[in-house]
Amino acid sequence: MQSSIFPELYPVKKPIFLASLDKLVQLPTKPVIIPSDGKGNKRSKKSLSTRASRKYHTNQILAPLLYYAKEIDSPLHNHYQKAFYCNNTLTQINGKLTGKYCNSRVCHTCNRIRTAKQINGYEPIMARSIAEGNKIAFATLTIPNVKDTELKDTIRLMKKQLSLIQRVITERRGISAKGIIKLEITWSYKRKDFHPHFHILSDSFEYNQMIIEEWLKRFPDATIKAQDNKYADMDIALKELFKYSTKIIDTDNSKVNDKTNRIAHVNLYALDVIMNALYKQKTITAFGMKQLSEDIESLISQEYYDLPPTQGELIETTIYDYENHCYKKVMAYEWVIDIEWIWDNNDWFYNGIALSDYVPKTKDKFSFHFHYK
Ligand SMILES: [Zn+2]
Repeated sequence: MQSSIFPELYPVKKPIFLASLDKLVQLPTKPVIIPSDGKGNKRSKKSLSTRASRKYHTNQILAPLLYYAKEIDSPLHNHYQKAFYCNNTLTQINGKLTGKYCNSRVCHTCNRIRTAKQINGYEPIMARSIAEGNKIAFATLTIPNVKDTELKDTIRLMKKQLSLIQRVITERRGISAKGIIKLEITWSYKRKDFHPHFHILSDSFEYNQMIIEEWLKRFPDATIKAQDNKYADMDIALKELFKYSTKIIDTDNSKVNDKTNRIAHVNLYALDVIMNALYKQKTITAFGMKQLSEDIESLISQEYYDLPPTQGELIETTIYDYENHCYKKVMAYEWVIDIEWIWDNNDWFYNGIALSDYVPKTKDKFSFHFHYK
């Protein structure tokens, strides 16, 4: 509950204390008005609409995932439910919207925030290293694909070996570097198995190369052909690194009646296996620099300049009249009631009014094909 006076939310030209009491009393009692589509509204309207689009697309997958998780009694059923309701209610207090974030990796909304946080945190450090004359190298470490039942243990082993390798390189060979390691898991539709692998972005090609050499010694089944190390442009490499930890959608654009019909294949079985393997696991490790948390704040508020005024009630209040140098009592609106915008399919609503005006466009409408094994 907020209790402050914001007369400027109403289009009064004069300062409120100079207006007559009669005029103030005539103000509408339920001022929930969506501002017309003037030029000034576009920026925040657009940002809310992008936010709505992310939630809409996440829920397209989460609704069947929830159903599937219940059917198979997945330990992550509640976790998916939390993601389904991520930002379900946006509480508005004056020009501020507050949402509750789920922090899940299946949530597009939270993934975007997580990615931005990581890039903003690591980018300046890597940029400094480039300025000192180092070059960015991007490596990939793989092992042969594994079955669903082997995934968790395999990840544990890969992580353990990689950290041992790094210790050997630093302590015994005295070579250090700065960088980020990212764990990814993909699913092979053809072979019905999982492909856990690491991406390493570092400021030393040589360091990456040594990791690959050690990796091949410790995983004799891994082939040298399947490992990779190359120089990279930092911005491209960072984007690549944080793009996703799991590729959950395979899109397939096929022409149907001259219109592009985008089919999104989602394998719910594979998605659930991967999410279980990554649950409460770190997927990003920094070395040679400070580690950032992968978690995002559970409550985030954002300010918008064009939100409709929240409901207020007329109360008698004391203000200072600068012209006559005295205090006087006036009737003014006190903002006491928060607006709760509730999500329904593709937008947040309050009293039948849509908040973002997001409507899924035809080009955004995938026809989803859900697979269960
Ligand atoms: Zn979320």
